Amino acid sequence: MESENCYGQVEQPKYDCLLFDLDDTLYPYSTGFADACTNNIKDFMVEKLGIDRTVIPELGNLLYKNYGTTMAGLRAIGYDFDYDEYHSFVHGRLPYENLKPDPVLRSLLLSLPIPKVIFTNADKVHAVKALNILGLEDCFEAIICFETLNPVHKNIVSDDEDDIQFTGSRSSSSITHASTEIFDIVAHFSQPNASTSSLPKTPVVCKPSAHAIENALKIGKINPQRTLFFEDSVRNIQSGKLVGLDTVLVGTSQRAKGADYALESIHNLRDALPELWVAVNKSSSEVGYSDKVAVEMPMTA
Ligand SMILES: [Mg+2]
Repeated sequence: MESENCYGQVEQPKYDCLLFDLDDTLYPYSTGFADACTNNIKDFMVEKLGIDRTVIPELGNLLYKNYGTTMAGLRAIGYDFDYDEYHSFVHGRLPYENLKPDPVLRSLLLSLPIPKVIFTNADKVHAVKALNILGLEDCFEAIICFETLNPVHKNIVSDDEDDIQFTGSRSSSSITHASTEIFDIVAHFSQPNASTSSLPKTPVVCKPSAHAIENALKIGKINPQRTLFFEDSVRNIQSGKLVGLDTVLVGTSQRAKGADYALESIHNLRDALPELWVAVNKSSSEVGYSDKVAVEMPMTA
């Protein structure tokens, strides 16, 4: 994937990996998934964890703000629950009928001569289901999802990179006991000068934590300096920028801090970044990106 400029110098393509968030990035916010997801999380907190519904708006906001996701926050403050049960409750009941195949995006992605990887906080079941409905299931070399960053059976994660199950599933939960003490984060922040440094830590690894993004890049053997990251979340964009990724904020034409580009819709990709197709006119034998990015993990259901 090299080309010569007018001075006869060989130019390297700028990117050899395109890293895509899934939800509200590869389909529009108007599907209603984000609101449905929020409501499902609230219902999970009431029905499964016994939390009083009246405290959920404030509690949910504090968890989301301080831990990145409500799930990560719930685990941090002491709630124990089965991750699969949480995901099936929160994602499994999304209005999938609102999601439609997107042949335009499919053509765009398939025409891009750069390896593409999904990086989502959601579980594998949701990621595969959403990609299948969108008709994008074969557009990506790999999915980095919740299970990738939060393997339950750590002993199966080998140091041998070839053995890593990037989209590996878990069949049972290691969380079998309920916590007896819950950290009252609402009371904590009602105190004057409440600090964030004394908050309990979460065991959940997820965006927007820079550590989570670095982990994902390491697992995928993805060089942040040569990767373009597509996201609808400003927080995730800013963390991505911190770890060295070039960033595209999707869903708005207004560039936020940390965003190198902004796209109202992922459909505007070719207009905004035509340079990504630089290798399209080269013969296939010259397109030599495949050995530059070690994203060989299969995208399996
Ligand atoms: Mg998103």
